Amino acid sequence: MREGRFDAMTIVNMDSAPAYGIAADVVVVGGGMAGLTLARKLAPGRRVVVLERGGAAPGAVDPACADGEVAGLPYPLGEIRDFRLGGSSSVWAGYIAPLDHRDFAIGTGTELCGWPIEFDELAIYADEAASLLNVASADFDPNLMDIPAALRKQLSPHGVDLRYWRFSKPIVRMADNWSQDLARSAEITVLTGARAIEILLTYAQNEVEAITCMAADGTRFDVRGGIFVLASGGLETPRLMLASQSRNPSGVGNDEGMVGSCFCEHPHLMVPGFELATDSALSAYATTGTLRDGSPATVNVALHACAANLNARAHFFRTPAMAEDAVPKLGIFFEQSPIIKSRVFLGDCCDSSGVRQLVLDWRIAEKDVEEFAAIANTLSGALARAGHGRFVRELHPADIGPELILHSNHQLGTTRMAVNAEQGVVDRNARVFGVDNLYVAGGSIFPRVGWANPTFTVMQCTLRLADHLAESV
Ligand SMILES: Cc1cc2nc3c(=O)[nH]c(=O)nc-3n(C[C@H](O)[C@H](O)[C@H](O)COP(=O)(O)OP(=O)(O)OC[C@H]3O[C@@H](n4cnc5c(N)ncnc54)[C@H](O)[C@@H]3O)c2cc1C
Repeated sequence: MREGRFDAMTIVNMDSAPAYGIAADVVVVGGGMAGLTLARKLAPGRRVVVLERGGAAPGAVDPACADGEVAGLPYPLGEIRDFRLGGSSSVWAGYIAPLDHRDFAIGTGTELCGWPIEFDELAIYADEAASLLNVASADFDPNLMDIPAALRKQLSPHGVDLRYWRFSKPIVRMADNWSQDLARSAEITVLTGARAIEILLTYAQNEVEAITCMAADGTRFDVRGGIFVLASGGLETPRLMLASQSRNPSGVGNDEGMVGSCFCEHPHLMVPGFELATDSALSAYATTGTLRDGSPATVNVALHACAANLNARAHFFRTPAMAEDAVPKLGIFFEQSPIIKSRVFLGDCCDSSGVRQLVLDWRIAEKDVEEFAAIANTLSGALARAGHGRFVRELHPADIGPELILHSNHQLGTTRMAVNAEQGVVDRNARVFGVDNLYVAGGSIFPRVGWANPTFTVMQCTLRLADHLAESV
């Protein structure tokens, strides 16, 4: 087939398969937050094709997001992602937090290792990530927050410290913010309505030859390239790797069975046994305020003394059903540790395009649940002793059933970064073990997920990947 390119317009909806083959230096699967960031950073001097299954126009969340089965903890697949240009940036809330230093130390020496890279290897991308996400600064110095000295003095002897989330403001919606730039780019071609359905490996299985796509009318076409990057989110990236079986029945990069395993969320728990005092100064922190530099932030509560194995961060909040002046509740976002049994795998049924459905079996280790209870109790006790409320009753691990655990819309860990293929799917440069020209971008590469909302770290990892790829393409 003759090769061609789209000169007139660089965002093209694939109503049907093109009459000619498509090739690029770099082929990115997924035009979400990671995929578009990577394309933009790599494009100068390189031809990049982005394959995006959704369209470019705003609208309701694609009903196909709900496709799939849930086997473990409840998880509303249709509400936790969006299939369109810009990906989940069309629905995200814009809370920004970085991983902590300690997130990079945790897991060392355990069966499933932690981050094989250092905190500083991502920290150098913090300013660039903040700028791309419309965050005023990447500085999270606690002193930027105007907290009365008396309040800090009450809390700190009890191991409690106040920190904050920053915000993407105005909130980044990548399709709206970046489409014009993309459409003008001579080097980036975005194909919308182009769903990747198979990663085609060479016979030797050590390289990707092409990605087979399906256009809106169901016709298929191949996209060839030098480097391929999967950036289709924490559920669809492992699904695509597992469903790509034409050379190997276990899928791509899955010789050790690690693709899809170690699915992690940030379990959120409303602490039922703590009542904030009606006159507590902490009530004021359930809403967004401003830092000394005038930028928006919401306070969260860090725990020094009690987070032994898992990171966690608390906050005060009101549910939408609560009155504006109601006493806020105490909630905690937890890290969960990676376990093989918490995973994404392929079901027996196929979706309307003939691709096998994903099954999500989200689980949390028993020892994590014990630690959740311990952290909640330590925090409740500390706040009560500091004079900010009543520790009404202790929480026991048995109390923490599925009805108490909420998800946070973060799909992480399913192609984890590791030191070897027995412990993960990608190496320290996000390259799939055993496949020379295949990389992954997005939160699926996180080997440990900390407590922090993931997108800031997703952006840092993606910018680092772009720099790595730029050396070879
Ligand atoms: C309701 C909600 C609120 C959130 N709030 C926050 C927040 O406050 N702070 C925070 O840090 N994070 C938040 N997140 C998470 C954040 O949106 C993600 O971390 C981020 O979008 C991840 O970027 P990504 O590029 O990896 O994935 P996505 O942005 O999901 O992009 C993946 C893209 O791949 C496309 N795709 C999938 N499969 C295929 C295929 N087979 N072929 C071609 N294309 C494909 C999809 O259509 C999509 O465009 C929130 C998420 C949701 C859903």
